[in-house]
Amino acid sequence: MKFVYFFGRGKAEGSAAMRELLGGKGAGLAEMTRIGLPVPAGFTITTETCDYYFKHKRAVPRDLAKQVKDAMKRLEKATGKRFGDSRDPLLVSVRSGAALSMPGMMETVLNLGLNDVSVKGFAEATGNPRFAWDAYRRFIQMYSSVVENLPKHDFEERLTVVRKRFGASDDTKIPAEGWQDLVGQFKELYRGRTGHDFPQEPEEQLWGAIRAVFESWMADKAVTYRRVEKITGLLGTAVSVVQMVFGNWGEDSGTGVCFTRDPSNGEPHFYGDFLPNAQGEDVVAGIRNPLPLTEMAKTMPGPYKQLERARKLLERHYRDMQDVEFTVQQGELYILQTRTGKRTPAAAFRIAVDLAKEKLITKKDAVRRIKPHDIERLFYPVIDPEFPQAKLDKAKLAGGINAVPGAAVGKAVFTAQEAEEWASRGEKVILVRRETSPEDVGGMYVAQGILTATGGKTSHAAVVARGWGKCCIVGCEALEVDYSAKSMSVNGRSLSQGDWLTLDGNEGLVYEGQIPVAMPKLPPAYFTLLGWADTFRRLGVRTNADTPHDARKAREMGAEGIGLCRTEHMFFKDFEQPEHSADRQFAIQEMILADTSEARRLALAKLLPFQRRDFIGIFEAMKGLPVTIRLVDPPLHEFVPHEPERQRELAEKIGVSAEHVAKRVEQLHEANPMLGHRGCRLAITYPEILEMQVRAIIEAAVDCKKRGIQVLPEIMIPLTMDRKELAILTDATRRVAGEVLKKAGVKLNYTVGTMIELPRAALLADQIAEVAEFFSFGTNDLTQTVMGLSRDDAGRFLPDYVDETKAGVFKEDPFQSLDIEGVGMLIRWAIERGRSTRKNLKIGICGEHGGDPDSVKFCHEVGMNYVSASPFRVPIARLAAAHAVLEEEQRKPKGRGKKKEARPEAQ
Ligand code: PEP
Ligand code: MG
Repeated sequence: MKFVYFFGRGKAEGSAAMRELLGGKGAGLAEMTRIGLPVPAGFTITTETCDYYFKHKRAVPRDLAKQVKDAMKRLEKATGKRFGDSRDPLLVSVRSGAALSMPGMMETVLNLGLNDVSVKGFAEATGNPRFAWDAYRRFIQMYSSVVENLPKHDFEERLTVVRKRFGASDDTKIPAEGWQDLVGQFKELYRGRTGHDFPQEPEEQLWGAIRAVFESWMADKAVTYRRVEKITGLLGTAVSVVQMVFGNWGEDSGTGVCFTRDPSNGEPHFYGDFLPNAQGEDVVAGIRNPLPLTEMAKTMPGPYKQLERARKLLERHYRDMQDVEFTVQQGELYILQTRTGKRTPAAAFRIAVDLAKEKLITKKDAVRRIKPHDIERLFYPVIDPEFPQAKLDKAKLAGGINAVPGAAVGKAVFTAQEAEEWASRGEKVILVRRETSPEDVGGMYVAQGILTATGGKTSHAAVVARGWGKCCIVGCEALEVDYSAKSMSVNGRSLSQGDWLTLDGNEGLVYEGQIPVAMPKLPPAYFTLLGWADTFRRLGVRTNADTPHDARKAREMGAEGIGLCRTEHMFFKDFEQPEHSADRQFAIQEMILADTSEARRLALAKLLPFQRRDFIGIFEAMKGLPVTIRLVDPPLHEFVPHEPERQRELAEKIGVSAEHVAKRVEQLHEANPMLGHRGCRLAITYPEILEMQVRAIIEAAVDCKKRGIQVLPEIMIPLTMDRKELAILTDATRRVAGEVLKKAGVKLNYTVGTMIELPRAALLADQIAEVAEFFSFGTNDLTQTVMGLSRDDAGRFLPDYVDETKAGVFKEDPFQSLDIEGVGMLIRWAIERGRSTRKNLKIGICGEHGGDPDSVKFCHEVGMNYVSASPFRVPIARLAAAHAVLEEEQRKPKGRGKKKEARPEAQ
């Protein structure tokens, strides 16, 4: 069996395709050798050998010794030097490298092959004793730590003493005697700690290092890293033994790291650092300040030209921006490593678009390369990356669930009312609540960010905040809120109303004080790339929007209609004319408290003009695109005050007794409101609510049509469970709509459909589709009802279900990423049954899953017409819908792909 792969002098036994076997580093060195880059010669011991080592009680395969010996001979031939030669020894580095990058997790030994005799020969051969003794001390230092696990600080301490003794600001100033003295001290230290002399035999050194690299695969930090990063299925680390080249040989030498394009903004200029007369570890350790590459171009024009050539070659070959390590030894350039470079989200877009324009990749490749989180991170403010980490750590109060990303800074307030008052004075606030309810919507809207002690990613606070792209942390278990004292305490620290808080919704972290945040700017490449994605996708992408403002925002984000407009959010806040918010709240509360249907109608009549105005604004913003408006959904008790003080205020306003209000609120109380009097059940009991809402929708549509604005309303009935139930409500809807249209003398295309949110509705979808003209899967409630998990409370224990170290039942929170196995099975069934009755049934999804990439791909696969996502997730859904098509194409054998169909959502 072959365990060793050689590379050198333009030829390599391995290649980039052998990443699994040779590790990223080994495969990269082989590939770079093949394409003619100046790479030092060497060989790689395979990851299979590492696997063998751990499976055979740390024994190496029998053949390995011979294969390493042969490879060493080839290396001697390629370099013209001999391993262990006392005059001009061949020195090697021994490096680790798994198939996936695990930065800093595994070990490397440099300058291997030196001993007490050859160091002198090396000094003579190089004519530089200072350099030779420095190389030897580095070798002993690394070997002691990596192979023998001796504590690093013992060596560091002695190094510091020598630095001080010579008053050297920089290690190149320490003379040969200093390093020679240190070598003596290091060897003594080594003998004292291990009980044996530092190995002088290069063979023995080599095997010590090879075994140590294997061992580093199972070191605690590497095992933990793989667990945290969810890296599984790798065989182990490969070991690359490579001829040493020295960047610290003298002033005509140096070392550096470069990116083939700018990793911070993607601009196609060469970007990197260079340190003259230094070894790689000096750059990493930050002992000296590196110089920009422009300096290298001036001081070392020859090697710089070679580097420019390597840059072009690498990009052409790998078709992506590369992060490259290089060394210049006596004016000769060597490339030591290349890998795909990490980049900011803005750079990711710019690079993908530029590479496609330069024809290095296709547009499809470019779209494929952008990941959903690249988009997400592009939009939200972030904690200023310049802010010192130590200060940040000090300010940290607690962690919670990162429900909506972004960063927000404001003063803590504990009621929605105060949030609104403070905000109207121009203050920036963070609304801190134990939990939120629809009543808080006004305060949530004006707050910079929202923090709650309870709840999960689809709790009310999260859903509403996501719609606005507002930073939100929920489920912050350590948070205790004392409403009466207007204070909060977290892990023993107390804050009062008005104290500054900073939320990092990207990480779900809460900080005390004002931490600076930075706003990323959308790069032009973002628009180009998403335009390309739109040409590939077939799934329509709509938005969940409740206000004209959100609708406009969503259009900017590329939404092709509204898939869900939750009308009840308008009951509490007038988003366009905030001074009318109180009138709306009053009207809805009056309606709820009314005893007779007459009184209810009177109260509803007050609400009608407000709703009509909202719908006009939304229709105007959507300019003829479909707008799905859902009739009222939550249980009515959510709209009335529960605190005695607020109940008294309301009683006074409408001229009834406080007892009457309290009694009505009590009557509305339900033990399990999520399964109670909500959704279309409200309209069955109170048809006048439906009538008012339908009238407002159709009158708004008529108003727009008369002004030449195209409208396409889709009226949606929530929480349906039965054909007859739905028929009663669709009949009522058509009757009211008919009356309004007749009176106005206007013709209007509108449809009436339903949400599928209950298992019964999904099971009987064929019957429901006899009545409904469209379906929209409300997967928040459908997940809740199929799984028997409360969407408002499950956040308390669901993390354990997802945590692999605990139960690990689900890979993801099912309220966030659709449970394709269970809930998905019901969705497939409902689509099939629904379309068996009504062939062209239009089907979408409007639960939170409509903005989750994996769920969007599922929606594509099961043949939905569109997904609907909150405005800030519309671009993510557009990208995911394109990815769904591209992945489908990759799965199909070439040449047999179906011709692109028209997008079913296209009107
Ligand atoms: C749903 O249940 O998925 C839905 C969209 O409705 P809501 O979240 O308003 O209950
Ligand atoms: Mg619902």
